[in-house]
Amino acid sequence: MKHITIKNTNQQIPVGKIVCVGRNYSEHAKELGNEVPEKPLVFLKPASALIFSGDKIRYPSFSNEMHHEVELVLLVGKKIKDANLKEAEDAIEAYGVGLDMTLRDIQTKLKEKGHPWTIAKGFDTSAVVSDFISKKEYTLTLNERIILSVNGVKRQDDLLNKMIFSPAEIVEYISSLMTLEEGDLIYTGTPAGVGKVIPEDKIHAEIEGLVFLDCSVE
Ligand code: MG
Repeated sequence: MKHITIKNTNQQIPVGKIVCVGRNYSEHAKELGNEVPEKPLVFLKPASALIFSGDKIRYPSFSNEMHHEVELVLLVGKKIKDANLKEAEDAIEAYGVGLDMTLRDIQTKLKEKGHPWTIAKGFDTSAVVSDFISKKEYTLTLNERIILSVNGVKRQDDLLNKMIFSPAEIVEYISSLMTLEEGDLIYTGTPAGVGKVIPEDKIHAEIEGLVFLDCSVE
């Protein structure tokens, strides 16, 4: 089982499921030609997809177009179902930054056929996370910047307050669909600027001043 490290503590939290939200920044929805959703668009990644800062992202043999998506990631701290907004906020234990690596060529074909996105989103190394910062140490204001650069060149840079659905709203909604448990991770969607990576690329992602990760592609 994989574990999340909480910065400045000895805590190691075993990871449960990984729930992801798509199209949560309107500029990103538009750049891929999608409508802005009325409810969060939800999909899953298997826990086997998870890797950590310093690990390598592996290009699968069945794709020629892997994209980076930088996202705020929430760590769930308690079991909840059908939470209200306050219960949802209280269930958020810590914040990290993550990469929702996506096989855009595969996803485009799946979308055309109305098929699930699993093959495009669930491959090994498709979920990267940083260490997390506990909400006891820092409470997010959403005025923080989320940034991703490839080989030192900035590609994604936006404010977390551009999210359509806030972290608590996302947790509230997902808890209406399925039980959330301690150790679950929630990816909250990516801002505009997604793009292709190739082998040897070096990716740096951060919530400015709070949490960061570094990975290379092979
Ligand atoms: Mg995403």
